[in-house]
Amino acid sequence: MNYHQYYPVDVVNGPGTRVTLFVSGCEHQCRGCYNQSTWDPRSGHPFDGAMADRIIADLNDSRIPRRGLSLSGGDPLFPGNLDAIKALLLRVKEECPGKDVWLWTGYRLDELSPAQQALLPLIDVLVDGKFVQEQADPSLRFRGSANQVIHLLKESQQAQK
Ligand code: SF4
Repeated sequence: MNYHQYYPVDVVNGPGTRVTLFVSGCEHQCRGCYNQSTWDPRSGHPFDGAMADRIIADLNDSRIPRRGLSLSGGDPLFPGNLDAIKALLLRVKEECPGKDVWLWTGYRLDELSPAQQALLPLIDVLVDGKFVQEQADPSLRFRGSANQVIHLLKESQQAQK
C-alpha cells in the first residue's frame, strides 16, 4: 500500500483531535472527486513499518491526546490495500486501547466483498458510498454528499452520538 498524506494532528476528518492517513488507490472514479491524484495505487509513498510505528506513537502521545485514527484516501478498502490496513488496525487495537477508528470508503456497506467485510470488526465508524456531485452539500458533517452514510458500527460510538 502507498499513501499520499499523513496528518499527525487533525481536527477536521472525524470527531475530536485525530491522526489521519490518506492512502493511495481508488477505483470509483467519482465525478468531482477532490482527490484524483490518489486513484493510482502506485502514486504517493510506500506505507512501511516506520510509518505504522509513527502512527502508533502519535496515537499514544499524551502531550496531544488523540481520540483516534481516521483513514481516507483514495480508498482504504481498495482491494490492494486490505492487507496493509488490516495489519495497521490490528496494531491500533492491540497497542492503542481506547482509540477509535473512522474509515471513509467509496464502497457501500451492503456491497463489501467478504475480504472487505473482514475488516469491519476493527472499525468503529464507516462512512460509505461514492461522492455524488449532484448530492454534494458542504454543510454535511464528515461527508461530502448526501448519499453517503455514517455507520456507527460499535455500541461505544452510538453512546457518543
Ligand atoms: S471514492 Fe473518494 S477518492 Fe475515490 S473517486 Fe470517489 S471521491 Fe475520489
